[in-house]
Amino acid sequence: MYEPIIGLEIHAQVNTKTKMFCGCDNDSFKKAPNINVCPVCMGFPGILPIINKEVYLKGIKSALALNCKIPNFAKFDRKNYFYPDLPKGYQISEYDQPISENGYIEFEVDGEIKKVGITRLHLEDDAGKLEHSRDSTLCDYNRAGTPLLEIVSEPELYSTRSASAYAREMRKILRYIGSSDCDMEKGMMRFDINISIRKKGEKKFGTKVEVKNLNSFKFLEKALDYEFKRQVELLEKGEKIIQETRGWDTEEEITVPQRSKEDAHDYRYFPEPDLPPMIITKKEITAISKDIPELPLKRKHRFIKEFGLKNNDAETLIETPELSTFFEKTAKLSSDPRSSNAFITTVLLKHLNEDQKEFNECKVTPESLAELITLVNKGEISNNAAKVEVFEEMYKTGDTPTKIVEKKGLKQVSDMGTIEEMCKKVIAENPNVVTDIKNGKDKADGFLIGKVMQLSKGKANPGLVSQTIKKLLS
Ligand SMILES: [Zn+2]
Repeated sequence: MYEPIIGLEIHAQVNTKTKMFCGCDNDSFKKAPNINVCPVCMGFPGILPIINKEVYLKGIKSALALNCKIPNFAKFDRKNYFYPDLPKGYQISEYDQPISENGYIEFEVDGEIKKVGITRLHLEDDAGKLEHSRDSTLCDYNRAGTPLLEIVSEPELYSTRSASAYAREMRKILRYIGSSDCDMEKGMMRFDINISIRKKGEKKFGTKVEVKNLNSFKFLEKALDYEFKRQVELLEKGEKIIQETRGWDTEEEITVPQRSKEDAHDYRYFPEPDLPPMIITKKEITAISKDIPELPLKRKHRFIKEFGLKNNDAETLIETPELSTFFEKTAKLSSDPRSSNAFITTVLLKHLNEDQKEFNECKVTPESLAELITLVNKGEISNNAAKVEVFEEMYKTGDTPTKIVEKKGLKQVSDMGTIEEMCKKVIAENPNVVTDIKNGKDKADGFLIGKVMQLSKGKANPGLVSQTIKKLLS
């Protein structure tokens, strides 16, 4: 039996307004090619880059959230290589003195807490993009100079599930910190994997293979499964695994050789002469760490304890900081965490998914949702009317539920006199059913309740109707 040994390198785009070393717009999503460029990010002769302080601070804050040590001195280095998407001819990265090292994160796999070491988190700028067509290649440099966090894990992940759970936890943490939006569809988070295999129980590492540039969790999982299988088959056939960099073919769903692995010396790293070193004091680090919010795993466990949520529901609710805050506010305002969870996970998220809307575009607020839950709990409207008619109107218009209930005349009849009158009428009209009930056919009273509901055009409070019928027949 073989086991994989996996290390992950995650690149996450920092969500600053401008690029890393110039004033160009950092948001190029769906923009015309080569519009967000300037002499600095195009690497013209004589340029002088300036460090975007916000990138630096977000890097430090993220590193602290990953329990990394922050040395007081760090510097940028040039990583030299030629590629058409890299106009400067080098990438500005951090080589031997990064802004942070030696951290760890915890995450959950099938209810079990795992811990993985973080080798380092450092800053670097991104390259542009190449677009290949049949007979030409076009270069778009909008992305060149975009700030990235590179987060390198120790090779301490031993299954695809763990690697995927680790990557998902990392996305949540960076979102909670507010350093990256990690929008996979916009290419804001990408993975490189290192994977080797060995027989279970062995201590020695096998030859590692790198697979670069996976841009979704699905591809990450598929590439890991594929690579594991490929390497096992090679060893079983008595062949050798070659140390190399491979790419992921999204059509065929296989990994393909790209190049044999470079070593660090191939890049001719040297300190970036145009940028000052980054120096930080203990006091500054303490100030930043005080600003770190409650992180997702901790929040999940708190939600389970404080609100009695099931693990799966809590997992859904903590996916983004916005969603978890929305839930917590609603639960507290309505004093009903169970209904808040049910409304959010089964009704609200369903609507947002169907419309492919972001959470921040939602017109329903925690205040209005709590109001809706309170109306149901007070028996003023039926659960069904709340979930369908009232909620849909709230979602569309942003109106308050009280206003909608009034406008649509959805208020439940909870007046005992009216309900008793309707129940008496239905009982008088259905003597056979009444006989059935008296003879012990329990289910028959559902029929009578249904009739009363019909009579009230769905507005009678079903709980009160049921009680009244029982009372009248006993
Ligand atoms: Zn620029």
